[in-house]
Amino acid sequence: MKKWEVKKTASKGYAIGPAYVVKKQEVTVDTASISADQVDAEVSRFEAAVEKAQADLAELAQENAIFAGHFALAGDIAIHDGVVGKIKDELMNAEAALMQVKDEYVVIFESMDDEYMRERASDMKDVSKRLLFALKGIDDNPFAAMKEKSVIVAQDLTPSDTAKMNMDLVLGFATEEGGVTSHVSIIAKNMAIPCLVGVGSMLEDVKTGMSMILDAGKGEIFLDPDEAMVAVYKEKAEKFEAFQKELESLSSLPSETKDGHGFSLCANVGNIEDIKYATQFQIEGVGLFRSEFLYMESDHFPTEEEQFEAYKEAAQLLGGKELTIRTLDIGGDKELDYYEFPKEENPFLGYRAIRMCLDQTDVFKTQLRAILRASAFGYIRIMYPMMISMDELTAANHLLEVCKAELKQEHVAFDEKIQVGMMIETPAAVMMAEEFAQKVDFFSIGTNDLTQYFLAVDRGNQKIANLYNSFNPAVLRAIYHTIQAGHRHNTKVGMCGEFASDEKASKLLLGMGLDEFSMSAGEVARVKYQLRGCTFEVAEKLADAALKLDTAEKVLELLENS
Ligand code: PEP
Ligand code: MG
Repeated sequence: MKKWEVKKTASKGYAIGPAYVVKKQEVTVDTASISADQVDAEVSRFEAAVEKAQADLAELAQENAIFAGHFALAGDIAIHDGVVGKIKDELMNAEAALMQVKDEYVVIFESMDDEYMRERASDMKDVSKRLLFALKGIDDNPFAAMKEKSVIVAQDLTPSDTAKMNMDLVLGFATEEGGVTSHVSIIAKNMAIPCLVGVGSMLEDVKTGMSMILDAGKGEIFLDPDEAMVAVYKEKAEKFEAFQKELESLSSLPSETKDGHGFSLCANVGNIEDIKYATQFQIEGVGLFRSEFLYMESDHFPTEEEQFEAYKEAAQLLGGKELTIRTLDIGGDKELDYYEFPKEENPFLGYRAIRMCLDQTDVFKTQLRAILRASAFGYIRIMYPMMISMDELTAANHLLEVCKAELKQEHVAFDEKIQVGMMIETPAAVMMAEEFAQKVDFFSIGTNDLTQYFLAVDRGNQKIANLYNSFNPAVLRAIYHTIQAGHRHNTKVGMCGEFASDEKASKLLLGMGLDEFSMSAGEVARVKYQLRGCTFEVAEKLADAALKLDTAEKVLELLENS
């Protein structure tokens, strides 16, 4: 038996069965030059391949929105011009020209800091492979031989690969490469298929038909397990299934504790795709729309019209449920290709988020106007990030008022009672929560940053990761202080940092009085199960006891024994 331990769980669950290994079909690309009189024919051949690929993609896009993106990429004018340029100027054949352009794009995507953008390199590879196959007239389906229910093992799986699979036969996925936001991960999550990605080298050992166990909860893969082990895991899988069914049965029940104390469960999203995914779950709305992704996915500052369309679609998809749009939170580790941030000693403490927006008021106003206009189409709330002073709030609200006045003058509709809130993610915001609460409609505690700033521990530094702990009593007291301050002034307090979905923290946060928990949509059912399983009275007592403790260890011990 061989075992792999994996850190990247894309979708939880157990898969037990034979492996089906998908090997990449290698296509050789002839690099021979063409003659000048072949140029036109070669360009036509490339354009015919684009047409064929787009026809296939249009069909696939009806089933899966990912392919709408691929459709656009296949017909992208910059890619077209790049390939045609190489055919005309360098007398390259269409296949060779395409591969060179693909390589150039892949290098650009892969060098990006943002994980989401890095993984777009795989879209480029997938689309160019499709074009290459169309150029060569090859129709490949690596799944044609898959006849029984299997665990798919591959180096990586592209959306085109997954589209060819008979999903009824897929027990699970294990890929050597890929991250948790790659397409195979998203598809696996959407279809609740167990999936482990970034496993590392496997294909040398795994052969089609070999018995496998995938424990995509713990992150373990066993090849060739003995019968006793298979029996143990079958039992685990059954229990897991039963628990999932129980979670599903809760989905239509109200978000309230046993003694009727209500709470709200919302999703964190970064784009329209995320919202479509999130609406499959029983969410009360979106507690955090990280609008910076719109900026990071673009090659220019998105125009008012582009943003308006995105926010409007988001609001409409939510059909009257809350959509909390956080204004641009860029800088720190989030960069833009088309804007050069100043070189700084401490970018996390530097020119970012609301600071940049209050400095570049044109950028900020464009966004505020787009949000306001979209607010006529749903229930939108505005949320400012990284606030540290009343001056910033006053300045941001002043610009908002200017935008409102402009729109009124232009006779453009917007929600005149639009709620305005702020993230509490700096020590300054916590200390001033009492004053802020009197000026805003809601708070949302961003524990990802709050923990980093409160403890002065870089959230991305692995060397000190043990110090980055939201159970540190200093952080817990900051959260409690914020909730108390908010409630004294009837300001609802939510949380959109990762801590909101921490298995051990939910009951404690409820007991502190947290009103809204916002998290990855896939986590909502589990948190609902936990919170519906307790009474508010017990949760309050737990919070009371936890807030008296002086170390994170003692808090965790209390929670584990409660
Ligand atoms: C946070 O800081 O907790 C938060 C939700 O914002 P982000 O993770 O985007 O910084
Ligand atoms: Mg933050």
